[in-house]
Amino acid sequence: MNPAVSSASSERLASFSANGAHGSVLVINSGSSSVKYQLVNPVGGEAIASGQVERIGQDDGIVTHKFAGNKTTQIIDVPDHSAALRIIMELFTVHGPDLAEADVVAVGHRVVQGGSYFSGPAVIDDEVLEKIRSLIPLAPLHNPGHVAGIEVARELLPHVPHIAIFDTAFFQTLPEAAYTYAIDKDVAEAHAIRRYGFHGTSHQYVSGKVSRVLGRRLDELNQIVLHLGNGASVSAVRGGVAVETSMGLTPLEGLVMGTRSGDVDPAVIFHLARNAGMSIDEIDDLLNKRSGMKGLSGESDFRAIHELVAQGDEATKLALDIYIHRLKKYIGAYHAILGRVDVITFTAGVGENDEIVRRLTVRGLESLGIAIDEGRNDERSRDPRIISPDWTSTLVMVVPTNEELAIARQCVAVVDELASGADASEDEPAAV
Ligand code: AMP
Repeated sequence: MNPAVSSASSERLASFSANGAHGSVLVINSGSSSVKYQLVNPVGGEAIASGQVERIGQDDGIVTHKFAGNKTTQIIDVPDHSAALRIIMELFTVHGPDLAEADVVAVGHRVVQGGSYFSGPAVIDDEVLEKIRSLIPLAPLHNPGHVAGIEVARELLPHVPHIAIFDTAFFQTLPEAAYTYAIDKDVAEAHAIRRYGFHGTSHQYVSGKVSRVLGRRLDELNQIVLHLGNGASVSAVRGGVAVETSMGLTPLEGLVMGTRSGDVDPAVIFHLARNAGMSIDEIDDLLNKRSGMKGLSGESDFRAIHELVAQGDEATKLALDIYIHRLKKYIGAYHAILGRVDVITFTAGVGENDEIVRRLTVRGLESLGIAIDEGRNDERSRDPRIISPDWTSTLVMVVPTNEELAIARQCVAVVDELASGADASEDEPAAV
């Protein structure tokens, strides 16, 4: 943990009482056209309330709020992020819980791209916000929404620290050989082109959880984490430190995903531009939104995909084969990088729920000491669990991810750290 703290933040923190640093954390995930939020109890781990505002910028915005077993849904005009955040505050006031009584100790903002600036959480002040803004060219779909959301949230909740948690931070430890692309180094440097990796909050949370569940030291475990959701990525984690990951400059690289292609020869882009008359924006849309399982089979949801396979749909069967083939390729590669693999963990929507994908992925890897026990794999549970047989050298596990809780806990750790620093140094400015 190495929070970037400026003196402006410490001033704001001076008015913040740290004594109740284990109240709740409001986690905000502000996307390009939606804002999702969750009020989290960082100790118990449960979501006290949650919701989302979707279709921002359109006159039929969808607003959903859940609290105490009640769910409210409204269709209203949400012109921009400012309106979305104001609506969220209103939802808390009208439908509960009252934020003033919820003892909100921090607002955690999920930020997709932290570039090379951030290797941990950052208390948001004007300088940090400016850096997030400066990274917009690297994350044009995500960072503008984050900036807009952060600006309004700071205005609406001025008395608590706002903390940015970056998807890229966990992967700032990648070795140079893993994060450098083999292109002209001056061009790469001029345009900040390198592997950043994404889903870092999930990979970090899951690899830490594995160590706690097994009761084994994190620094002694070599792990492969398979985050298989609508977006999907693999990481290799040695002793708690990320050493490889499949997503790159953007979340497009790597595995086959719901709608993203993952790895393709970059020359596909030149070919389409030169011979198919497609613009760069059209190719961007093709590879990000109309490829992956969706592009291959017409469906991106694995429940629908298995139904189509069961009905004998050949295109979908091939799509599933391609998905599994790519996964095995990465497991083999990361095995070679790590040398020894103690644990392979499945997580996220597909990884946690899809026993077929898990079975097909692991099938044929017995010579690497990797296998699953069919009975354990088929068991439905929301608990972290081992699904490999007792005889294997590598454990295969299913561990549910919880990015909101991970963000909330990182925020509490920052708040605690800041509070102890502020107490110790009285009038001195906090470390920059
Ligand atoms: P995530 O992005 O982690 O929320 O994952 C969403 C994806 O998980 C969906 O698009 C589905 O493909 C997959 N998923 C969710 N529930 C199931 C399930 N019960 N069986 C198979 N896949 C599932």
